[in-house]
Amino acid sequence: MALIVQKYGGSSLSTPERIKEVAKRISKTKSQNNKVVVVVSAMGDTTDKLLDLMHKVSLNPPKREMDLLLSTGEVISTALLTAALHSLGEEAISFTASQGGIITDESHTKARIQKINPKNIMEEIKKDKVVVVAGFQGITSKNTVTTLGRGGSDTTAVALAAALKADICEIYSDVEGVFTADPRIVHNARKLHRISYDEMLELASLGAKVLNLRAVEMAKKYQVPLHVRSSFSENQGTLITG
Ligand code: ADP
Ligand code: ASP
Ligand code: MG
Repeated sequence: MALIVQKYGGSSLSTPERIKEVAKRISKTKSQNNKVVVVVSAMGDTTDKLLDLMHKVSLNPPKREMDLLLSTGEVISTALLTAALHSLGEEAISFTASQGGIITDESHTKARIQKINPKNIMEEIKKDKVVVVAGFQGITSKNTVTTLGRGGSDTTAVALAAALKADICEIYSDVEGVFTADPRIVHNARKLHRISYDEMLELASLGAKVLNLRAVEMAKKYQVPLHVRSSFSENQGTLITG
């Protein structure tokens, strides 16, 4: 039996239909004798819309309030995906960062994860439930909501995989894996089947947003194997290891 952390980005959760498809994929993974922890991003371009909304009411919004607002996007996905899993007869439970014990520093809008208290999540895994955790958000030791910076759900997933000693962290997106260049811009870009953390660090630092830079740094530090793949197909993606 393996413990798998699966992260679904906004592009994989853009509509109610997509959320139901993702629920089916999770249920299938679970039925193959795995334990599954899921990390979700906000649906589609929700985070951009929330940013715009805040700027309509304030020219210089307080970062604390910005974080509280932005964190709601991931909360929506968490509740909807958990409900979709229930509809499939799957035992599942949602967790915000606070409930999931994801503790950060106080640098609002670009907070860093300091530690993870995985007790609550572990208890639910032991009950054989799928645990759905809101990505991108954290909680400070003073109980204030933070966010990790754009693309931060990848970091949540890798940090959880490290804390839970998961066998693999799967990052689901709208591309088939990591390519030699952005496949939406460079049409003859090649898919890479296997690359090292260092090669991925280089790509991420050059702006390949398919994986957040901090997430790759953390994967390297804790030796978490990553599999970047598409939620729109069954194909193997890119394996990133030491
Ligand atoms: P998600 O919503 O799943 O987090 P992102 O939009 O953050 O997805 O990242 C996926 C996007 O990253 C792809 O749609 C692609 O355009 C872009 N991208 C940039 N560079 C690369 C690359 N080298 N390989 C694959 N995708 C890349
Ligand atoms: N929803 C956040 C963003 O759009 C975090 C993420 O998608 O990883 O940046
Ligand atoms: Mg992303």
